[in-house]
Amino acid sequence: MSKYNVNEKGYYGKFGGAYIPEMLYPNVEELRESYLGIIQSEEFKNEFNHLLKTYVGRPTPLYFASRLSGKYNTKIYLKREDLCHTGAHKVNNTVGQILIAKRLGKSRIIAETGAGQHGVATATVCALMGMECVVYMGEIDMARQKPNVERMKILGAEVKPATSGSKTLKDATNEAMRHWINNPTDTHYIIGSVVGPHPYPDMVARLQSVISEEMKQQLQVVEGRNTPDHVIACVGGGSNAAGAFYHFLEDESVNLIAAEAAGHGVMSGKSAATTTLGKPGVLHGSKTLLMQTDDGQVVEPYSISAGLDYPGIGPIHAHLFDAGRAEFFGITDEEAMLAGVELSKLEGIIPAIESAHAVAVFGNRQFEKDEVIVVNLSGRGDKDLETYIKWGKY
Ligand SMILES: *Cc1c(COP(=O)(O)O)cnc(C)c1O
Repeated sequence: MSKYNVNEKGYYGKFGGAYIPEMLYPNVEELRESYLGIIQSEEFKNEFNHLLKTYVGRPTPLYFASRLSGKYNTKIYLKREDLCHTGAHKVNNTVGQILIAKRLGKSRIIAETGAGQHGVATATVCALMGMECVVYMGEIDMARQKPNVERMKILGAEVKPATSGSKTLKDATNEAMRHWINNPTDTHYIIGSVVGPHPYPDMVARLQSVISEEMKQQLQVVEGRNTPDHVIACVGGGSNAAGAFYHFLEDESVNLIAAEAAGHGVMSGKSAATTTLGKPGVLHGSKTLLMQTDDGQVVEPYSISAGLDYPGIGPIHAHLFDAGRAEFFGITDEEAMLAGVELSKLEGIIPAIESAHAVAVFGNRQFEKDEVIVVNLSGRGDKDLETYIKWGKY
């Protein structure tokens, strides 16, 4: 029995499960019954690994950051997910899910997106496979993230504005769910992080686990052992962190560190620091920690980085927090931006602002000189150039 991974009922400790409307049950149940058999089949593994290699560009390098290591007087490696096709780890999951969809006989894909990154990763693999793609996006988000809307259209996807409620991610999610209920047989819904009803969190974690699988092999070559002392990753929904932690979950000699977005400060009223501020509740079909008012209304999150701007956290991370298995740090906008610029100047790598939150942990915690630390650099900063420019301090 695994202490930290999912159980057969879809729970991580007291978090997870599938809290879905009756109407969605057949869709989720079909997926639950088939996902493990598919993922574990040789035929799936061969096709998935082939695409990860020839299309995504895996394995991504494990890079020893010597100037950053010198500055913090410890041994820092960067797992370069920023070098994946489309610029971040998200494509590992979308490649895997579209292969699963194909095997379930689906011909259409739907997805929801907030900032547009998951929408682009989904539109990308739909083009790759020649599948129809509909991406739901809040009307306000569409206006804020114009380049990603255009990217999706260039890739052949249809972008449908969600016009209800606050016209953001939560409303896009509701509309995608509604669409799925009405099209259960031919459509697969690609969720972009380790969130949603079981089996999504486990399925996405397994598809992203290639990150820690490669880390182990790469560490063996450069360090002569296949485990680091610490793994650091940023957490929005938590998919890059779940992938980076996956093969180390049960090995408690490996310390796991998660960086959440504290926005203007944890207690400022403008943050997304879910573990500090959140209470147990149900969000997007699973029981987890989420930011909510006393009467259970979801609180609007805030972060300078669009990918971390989420009011909940995947159930696996709620459990790692609850069980004390992972350390959680709330990183402010300012700390993240400074860390992003520092990494750029020390190593010649401009990180995504999400990933800069992980790098900022070095300003918040001491490490020993001979400790081996792997930072999962989830994405590159090209998409964030405007935010860097507006911030201006470089
Ligand atoms: C979307 C995104 C994240 C946050 O998503 P997780 O599911 O928490 O990994 C982090 N980094 C980058 C670069 C992203 O695009």
